[in-house]
Amino acid sequence: MLTIDLEALQANYRRLAQAAAPARCAAVVKADAYGLGLDRVAPALAEAGANTFFVALPEEGMRLRSLLPDVTIYVLSGFFEGAETDYAEYQLRPVLNSLPDIERYRRLTIETALPAALHLDTGMSRLGLSRAEWHRLQEDPELVQGLDLRLFMSHLACAEDREAPLNTTQQERFRQARAFLPDIPASLANSSGIFLGPDYGFELVRPGVALYGANPTPGLESPMRPVVRLSVRILQVREIDSGESVGYGATYTADAPRRVATIAAGYADGVHRALSSTGRAWIGGYELPFLGRVSMDLISLDVSNLPEALAQQGQSVDLLGPDQDIDSLAGQAGTIAYEMLTSLGRRYHRQYLDHTT
Ligand SMILES: *Cc1c(COP(=O)(O)O)cnc(C)c1O
Repeated sequence: MLTIDLEALQANYRRLAQAAAPARCAAVVKADAYGLGLDRVAPALAEAGANTFFVALPEEGMRLRSLLPDVTIYVLSGFFEGAETDYAEYQLRPVLNSLPDIERYRRLTIETALPAALHLDTGMSRLGLSRAEWHRLQEDPELVQGLDLRLFMSHLACAEDREAPLNTTQQERFRQARAFLPDIPASLANSSGIFLGPDYGFELVRPGVALYGANPTPGLESPMRPVVRLSVRILQVREIDSGESVGYGATYTADAPRRVATIAAGYADGVHRALSSTGRAWIGGYELPFLGRVSMDLISLDVSNLPEALAQQGQSVDLLGPDQDIDSLAGQAGTIAYEMLTSLGRRYHRQYLDHTT
């Protein structure tokens, strides 16, 4: 059972909005709202006050538009060939990431100026105008003439590391550049960027992962509320003797008699195979180490120290819950909360908690 707490999500939005003020707070809902379900997440965020949303792809924007007819939607990955007419039809604003993007968009909008964002690369070398392109634009401002630019943005590479010198470098480059387009609202900070201080807020912040409960300030106590709980049922419990092995590849061999519980989740459900031998589940404060490999649909747990009343078929154990948050499980898998959230499987029964439940 995957439980998604929409009230906690809304509280997180308000918390981030408060931390970012006087900047306005948007919401990033790409990749099906980081795996949690756009259909339920986006309306809940709008109800909490969000009126600007970011998605990655035009298809995501179209889906979001059908849910929220009145909000502002930016498409981060840009102005896609073949989808040109969708932007106008669904009122999606492309984030223009290069001079050729700008040129194509200008050609489309020659009759009526359509709104867009302009993305400057300040240190990621991923998307956005390069330094050379930015210089060309400064020398020839006509390149953006006729465009209705509503947002000037850049993206931080190391925001979760307060000490990273690149944060200041990017912030200064961005501040300098925006002096060239002073009347357009500017946006730099993602979730962690909000906590780097007021220099990073500009006019709009773009949190994603912190809305969904990940800690934007690693190493410090999380200011966010957990949003996801993942409870998985025990299918079978057995006793094994010393010397017996567990799972594929027989990578675990019992050094003493053990009690083993097999639960109904595996790597096909986003419980990464990298959690083999390192992952942990929890129930009522008891830690249950993964034994051997994670299979596609199953995981074996050591329940030797669990009271027998709990080590029963039908009992649920938590992979995410009060004893283990998303950052912690992701860390055990050698990955980050972003990847863990966006891999959450489609086979779980999903339950959404809101003020009506
Ligand atoms: C994904 C993304 C965000 C949100 O980042 P988080 O770290 O999840 O808060 C913001 N801006 C851009 C450009 C992104 O791609």
